[in-house]
Amino acid sequence: MSFTSFGLSTALQNALGGRGYLAPTTIQQEVIPAMLAGHDVIATAQTGSGKTTAYSVPILERFQKLEGDKSRPVRSLILVPTRELAIQVGDTLRSLSQGFSHPPKLAVLFGGISINPQMMHLRGGADIVIATPGRLLDLVAKNALNLRQVASLVLDEADRMLALGFTEELSKIIELLPKQRQNCFFSATFAPLVRELAERLLDDPIRINV
Ligand code: AMP
Repeated sequence: MSFTSFGLSTALQNALGGRGYLAPTTIQQEVIPAMLAGHDVIATAQTGSGKTTAYSVPILERFQKLEGDKSRPVRSLILVPTRELAIQVGDTLRSLSQGFSHPPKLAVLFGGISINPQMMHLRGGADIVIATPGRLLDLVAKNALNLRQVASLVLDEADRMLALGFTEELSKIIELLPKQRQNCFFSATFAPLVRELAERLLDDPIRINV
């Protein structure tokens, strides 16, 4: 299989080629078409499987189809457990969208550093937000962003988010999102609490085990 079979934009195909990706990984083969078709997705995904690109490609492809909305509401929210993963996901999205005529505005938000530069950055709007749960809620409380127009939600490394004690934060964030949205859930393991969160969140998902 090759990336051309997904019918992606030229800019995105070029970016994948530019990163040296010749063919989609197994998880990408399953997740990309499911998300492009608008389904909810639940995937067992280890680090190194190519999961970041698996969800980034459909998010970027759909973003490109939106005609320039000047208000730039947050369209996609990607929740991650750690600062390191937030930075890595932000780098992947930036690299994949660099050839777009209107690249999305990204905001990479995590705790442990001053909140003020993040608030300043958000004044210019953000199309795609990559965040750890606690800092995201702090920024919402300060009215630095609102999540009322999020069309797609990704939980990356959901098991680690729960293990790090983000259960309550995740529930609060989910309450702030519109009911009508696409949900994608990635986890390396499925202990009962992880399964419970997935069941609460997902609507008739496509299940992917690779
Ligand atoms: P991830 O599981 O998303 O952390 O990705 C693991 C590594 O695989 C990263 O270094 C990616 O750059 C790389 N990668 C992702 N997709 C592909 C692909 N289709 N072909 C080759 N390498 C890839």
